[in-house]
Amino acid sequence: MADRPPSVDTLARSLAATGLPHPICVDVARAAIDAGAPDSAMERAVAYRRTLLTPVVNATGVLLHTNLGRAPLGHHQDPQAMTVEFDLTTGERGSRQTAVGQLFARLCGAEAAIVVNNNAAAVLLVVAALAAGRDVPVSRGESVEIGGSFRVPEVMEQSGARLIDIGTTNRTRLADYQKAIARADVDATMVLKVHPSNYRVEGFVEETSISELATLDVPVVADIGSGLIDSGCPWLDGPPPAWLAGEPAAVQSLAAGAALVTFSGDKLLGGPQAGIIAGRADLVEACLQHPLARALRPGGLVLSALQDTALTYLRKDAAATIPFWKMVATPVAELQQRAERVVAAISDAHPSAVAAPMKSLPGAGSAPGVTMPSFGVLLDGDHVESLRNGVRPVIARSRDQRTSLDLRSVDPADDELLIDALVAVS
Ligand SMILES: *Cc1c(COP(=O)(O)O)cnc(C)c1O
Repeated sequence: MADRPPSVDTLARSLAATGLPHPICVDVARAAIDAGAPDSAMERAVAYRRTLLTPVVNATGVLLHTNLGRAPLGHHQDPQAMTVEFDLTTGERGSRQTAVGQLFARLCGAEAAIVVNNNAAAVLLVVAALAAGRDVPVSRGESVEIGGSFRVPEVMEQSGARLIDIGTTNRTRLADYQKAIARADVDATMVLKVHPSNYRVEGFVEETSISELATLDVPVVADIGSGLIDSGCPWLDGPPPAWLAGEPAAVQSLAAGAALVTFSGDKLLGGPQAGIIAGRADLVEACLQHPLARALRPGGLVLSALQDTALTYLRKDAAATIPFWKMVATPVAELQQRAERVVAAISDAHPSAVAAPMKSLPGAGSAPGVTMPSFGVLLDGDHVESLRNGVRPVIARSRDQRTSLDLRSVDPADDELLIDALVAVS
């Protein structure tokens, strides 16, 4: 007589070692039995667990990896009540925008600042608050799509403002804006300048600078995207890295005459996912008063992490404290030493492994086409999939049957994990 299939409950309990909660184990066990393959239950449970958010070692060399949560960030918060919307002086209700807003205003040299969920939300809120039912001139060279779903014309449509195309794809001059704004059928209340972030037009190209746009009669809103605070990078020892040239910064954009800037919290800023709006107090207030502000507001966890990030910048401590800037500031010689250590530790398992110079990318659409020198480990064979299948997955890259692991995007504290993972896939 054939064995009877195990009961759902017995099978579910056999999956407990995966760490999945019992109701999920029951679902998985039932699915395996229904498929006539109870033996597949463990495999299914492991596969399910791998669909949950999982910490990984990022050895891709892309420092702000869009699929790996952009800027890596650790944030500890005790389960305590916090003054998210409470004014300690008056004992009355306060605004959740006060604490972090004032810090970002100070950092950017702005009159005021507020925080929303991401930069897409920031742009949406600004345009809705300043220009719903009115017109917004945008250069044809800046009517871009960023990261798959942020498309300037679509954001504009959702905000209720009408986009007025200005100039051409490769060249847009101040006179093009002036002519459009002067048209009888155009009712412009702001111009929007968008940093094209992840793409670049080369050759016969001309864009209108913020300082030129600031001579127009309407405020200039600059979506600078990446959230570089200051192009001088005063938080680094020494001059700003060459790869940053061309990235607009909040301080300089406002100094050049932008009435507002918007940027992401989790790109070059190195903080949590958020969108920051900084600039003229009356325009920031108009954003705050718009009904969308409530729908787009961040929670206390994000505000608290962003406050830490802002305080770190104000202490000029970013290179030592913010993981992204730590990765940027690591000298190549140090990466080379680490690579040589890893190679020595895995040489029995991988005699082909060598320490090799590599090129890291900032990522997240920042500074397209530029790289920073790095060092990593190169070995024979395509191990990308096996490395991904480990308990602590390692995300590597492969080309021409060789696997490369760039150490600039790996936390030095994870080198041992990396060694273990590499030995395990030999
Ligand atoms: C990244 C980016 C956005 C979208 O920002 P999110 O924080 O991802 O919403 C918008 N505009 C520009 C210029 C960007 O670079």
